[in-house]
Amino acid sequence: MANPILVLAEQLRGGLADITFEMLGAGRALAGAAGAPLYAVLLGREAAPLAPKLGRADKVFVADHPQLDLAPAGAIAAALKSVMDQVGAGLVLVGCTNVSSGIGSLLAAKTGLPLVNFCRGAKAEGGALVFTSQLFGGKILSDVKLADGRGIACIYPGAFPADAGKSEATPPVEKVDVPVEPPAVVFKKYLEPEAGDVDITKQSILVGVGRGIQTRDNVQLAEDLALALGGAVCASRPVIDQGWLPLSRQVGKSGMSVRPRVYLALGISGAPEHWEGMQNSRCIIAVNTDPKAPIFDGSHYGAVCDVLELLPVLTDKIKARKG
Ligand SMILES: Cc1cc2nc3c(=O)[nH]c(=O)nc-3n(C[C@H](O)[C@H](O)[C@H](O)COP(=O)(O)OP(=O)(O)OC[C@H]3O[C@@H](n4cnc5c(N)ncnc54)[C@H](O)[C@@H]3O)c2cc1C
Repeated sequence: MANPILVLAEQLRGGLADITFEMLGAGRALAGAAGAPLYAVLLGREAAPLAPKLGRADKVFVADHPQLDLAPAGAIAAALKSVMDQVGAGLVLVGCTNVSSGIGSLLAAKTGLPLVNFCRGAKAEGGALVFTSQLFGGKILSDVKLADGRGIACIYPGAFPADAGKSEATPPVEKVDVPVEPPAVVFKKYLEPEAGDVDITKQSILVGVGRGIQTRDNVQLAEDLALALGGAVCASRPVIDQGWLPLSRQVGKSGMSVRPRVYLALGISGAPEHWEGMQNSRCIIAVNTDPKAPIFDGSHYGAVCDVLELLPVLTDKIKARKG
């Protein structure tokens, strides 16, 4: 049997993040193809009660230690290395998220194993594993082969379906002791994001506006359309930078990653930093005056026209159709 595959379960404030289930789904497929067991690792004082939710794993290892709650990346990497050594793991999947940032690279340095960052795809090929890594904001997709199937892979959120990592089964749970170094950096307090605004990651219809909307007042045209459609307005960075919408509405590299059913890109050029945040939308409809705008390259539907002319007409038509 091949070496076990480990998934670091990502948690925040008593809940498991979606990326955990995405990694379990991807890990399950790899483990099946490689004939390897799939294990999950939970670290921290509040971790143990979460173990029953990780039924997609063959076993869950829990290191229940208060100093592993929101611990710095170095402490988590040291704990993970210890679990790897104890179970003989060959591959570790870690979230490529703000919460897990830095863990993968430090673990690679501690183990001497290769690191593949920003993974959007994974498959088994003979005895090897091939990960597709997204580079330069999505301009390059590079296939990286781990010839002996050993390494650290940081998985990009949204790359794999979370449902594939969920199961009603109750996994066996085993407690493990890991070394916990005195932390050089300590977690002081959790700051809540701005409250009261729409969570754009939960919307099924998003009306995205870019610089092509031209003025703060015109954003209302997009708000009217979003209201008629039952969705919400989000934006590219220049619109946020101007202060026309709050930061919580920004889509892209330095904003949110969204996956709505429909994403309308209105007056958005399709820069890689924006594309990165909305490329996983199920249906992308772009509207732009420039027929050569890059947004059209990846969109499912497109219209070359002025959004300021289109918006009032479209909103009226949708309202009329909905009665
Ligand atoms: C490190 C880094 C991080 C970044 N993070 C993000 C991020 O998170 N999100 C993000 O969005 N960007 C981000 N950016 C910025 C990104 O590079 C682009 O500058 C930005 O996405 C462009 O926004 P835009 O498409 O609205 O504007 P532009 O690129 O200026 O495009 C405007 C588009 O509107 C069209 N247009 C103009 N008038 C009309 C009209 N009347 N009707 C229809 N179309 C019209 C134009 O043809 C053009 O295609 C980041 C950049 C860096 C360097």
